[in-house]
Amino acid sequence: MKNIFKIICKKCGGKCCKLNMMLTKRDSIKLKGKTGLDKFKKYKEGILVHWGKCPFLDEGCGCTLPQKTKPFDCRFFPLALIYKGGKINLFLNKKCPYADEIPKEVLIKTQEWALKELINWTDKELESYTELIKKHSSSKLSPI
Ligand code: SF4
Ligand code: SF4
Repeated sequence: MKNIFKIICKKCGGKCCKLNMMLTKRDSIKLKGKTGLDKFKKYKEGILVHWGKCPFLDEGCGCTLPQKTKPFDCRFFPLALIYKGGKINLFLNKKCPYADEIPKEVLIKTQEWALKELINWTDKELESYTELIKKHSSSKLSPI
């Protein structure tokens, strides 16, 4: 199956790369030395945020980062998480205009990958991420 994101992200023109983007401590270690990292500001313990157009976005060519270096938030989107009562709940973020075109099996694969990655997150990171999502996307979240 052709990578669905190659199709929908081309149609959309990278909307999610122009909203806001969050980096965990692990992401910033992976990106160490990359031009643009200095544009992220500390949001809460362990979380950096950049508002607006991502510094790693090239309008002509798209994301300038190799797939393996891409931050969790980019690989996770359009999924989003809400951490409540010690439990991680995953949602589909309809800020992605083509979220409904993503096949169920792709969403399931992304959920499985994300849940493995999220084992390494601290409670503080999960809480800060949840706070950001609630502030900026809560009305756009829908159950998967
Ligand atoms: S908003 Fe959705 S379709 Fe657009 S670039 Fe992001 S993931 Fe792709
Ligand atoms: S790192 Fe790449 S995929 Fe992530 S927001 Fe920036 S340009 Fe988009």
